[in-house]
Order: sequence, then C-alpha cells, then structure tokens
Amino acid sequence: MTSEWSFTQGGPEEDLRNEFKVGQHFRNKKEVMLAVKTYNIKRAVEYKIVCSDQCRYSAQCIQFGPGCNWSIHISYRRKVEKWEVRIYTGPPKCMQTSIGQDHCRLDSKMISQHIFTMVKTYPTISIKVLQGGVENHFGYKVSNRKVWLAKQIVIVSIYRDWKESYNELPRWLFAMQMYLPGTWVQLVTQPWLGSADFVIFHRDGNANILPIAFAVVEGEINEAWSFFLSYLRQHVTPQPGVLVISDKHKSIDGKLNANDSLWRPPHAFQLFCTRYIVANFITHFKNKNLKKVLINAVYLKSQREFPHYFGYLRGENEAITRWLEEMPSSQ
Ligand SMILES: [Zn+2]
Repeated sequence: MTSEWSFTQGGPEEDLRNEFKVGQHFRNKKEVMLAVKTYNIKRAVEYKIVCSDQCRYSAQCIQFGPGCNWSIHISYRRKVEKWEVRIYTGPPKCMQTSIGQDHCRLDSKMISQHIFTMVKTYPTISIKVLQGGVENHFGYKVSNRKVWLAKQIVIVSIYRDWKESYNELPRWLFAMQMYLPGTWVQLVTQPWLGSADFVIFHRDGNANILPIAFAVVEGEINEAWSFFLSYLRQHVTPQPGVLVISDKHKSIDGKLNANDSLWRPPHAFQLFCTRYIVANFITHFKNKNLKKVLINAVYLKSQREFPHYFGYLRGENEAITRWLEEMPSSQ
C-alpha cells in the first residue's frame, strides 16, 4: 500500500519560490496531479482541469483571462516513459484570494497523503494535532471533520477495515487454542468506549514471569473486573490457596473482597505487591535510605531475619513500624 503514496513531501512545488519549468519530469500521472494541486493550494489559487486523460493533463487558473494567465500542459512522453511539462505560463497573477480559509482542493484525500506517515507512526495521534500539522503545512485551517475523514482513509489503507480485522479475530483465537493447549477464550462484545487491559502473570520453574491471561476491556471499572476475575477463577486458576497480588486499585479491591468473592480465604489469600508498598512508603516517609532497608526486609526468604530489619526501622522512625503494622495483612 505504501508504494501508492510515492509522492514525497517537500517536493519542489511546495516551495513558493519554485515554479514549474518546461521540460520538468514526473514519474506518473498521479504525481503530476498531486504536484499541480499542491502548487495551487500552497499559493491559495483555485484552478480548473481543462483536460485529463491517459496521456495529457492541463489545468488553468479559475479566473483565466486578461487578469491571470496561469496555465500548465503536461503530457506523457513515450520515449522517456515520463510525464513532461510542455507548456507553462506562470506564476499566477490573480494571486491569493485569502489564505486561512479552506481550499476546495484541500480535501480529505489530499490531507490523508500529507498525514500518512504521522498516522502510521502514531496511530492514536489526535485529530487536533493533525489539524495543527495540516495548518502549518498548507496554511489553511481545515475542519475537524475533514481531518477525521483523512485519518480514516489512512487507517483503512494501513489496517484495512476495522470490521475486517474484527472478523479475523475468531480465526486468530482458534489458532491460539489449537497450538496452545489449555488456552481458553471468552469473547464478549459491547459498544467501544476506550480500552484498558489486564494481564495475569505466571512464574515458571526457571523464574521467568509469563503472562497467562489477559483481557482487553473498556476500563478498570467494577463490571470489567468482575467479568475478568470470575472467568479467571473458573478457567485459569480453579485451585484453592492461590495467592493474589494486585495493585490495590479501588475497583479490583472491591471485587476481590466482595461478599461472594472466591478470592478470599479459604479460597485465596491476598498479598501486597512490593512495588506498591515501596511506592506508598516513599509517598509517606520520603526517605530513600530507609526505602532500601524496607526492600531488603520484604524480600527476606525467612521470617527469622525479619525482626532485625523491623527493629532497625523502628529505631529510625517509629511511625514506619506503626504504618507497617496498620497495613491490612492477608485476610
Ligand atoms: Zn489566476
């Protein structure tokens, strides 16, 4: 697909000092049309196409007459296999209606060619940023809608249709189930609102941490956690005595501790994530040296050494040990 967008930005027709020259070459008609279009948009001049077929392309100023005689005639030269400017009269003398307003030739398709690389690199780039880019480049304020449509054109050209990709999903999931025995898939659809994902990790015999389940949902909201946790319990970790470490986000905490939760003792036990504890510690006590002591304490492999660290922390600041004691332990 990319090859269709062979027009390179920053071509000579974009520089206002440059003019078309008789004898100038273009690789194909697409390039010819784009060059004429860009030239006129940049100069805020409206033009009309006088003739356009497989071997000729001519255009002239929309006010063509005694006031302005801008015109161009480009045709295909079989010998060199290129399009060549044969007749040219310019620059336009009618110059500049008023720059700043929209230009009728600056349509979504034209904009899509300009923003193609940006959207390809940053698919989530906002319309506002693109709009600014278009304004900087062409000197026109274009409507949200035009830019939005342009972005759609680019997205479809890169990813094809959303619908198409979506329809491919079951096939993809089926392949996963075929080649990763034990894979269990539950696809639930609803109107799209944004997205967030959950990932559950597993540590294998070689201490590698591997994701074992994930969900793409509309956000970290109660319903989403409820959906994820219930399927996780049912299909991925049905065994009792599972240890749960979470980031203690309000919505996950609420769901884990709900009355009917299967994530509480005796079914499962909740622990704190070291990173969570340490991050909270820094917010509360802002002490980097004691942070190191705390990290050593939480990574201890036996309980025997813990009192030593705990005592040290108490000696430094009693508030720390109170804070640790008040932390709800595994229920
Ligand atoms: Zn003119």
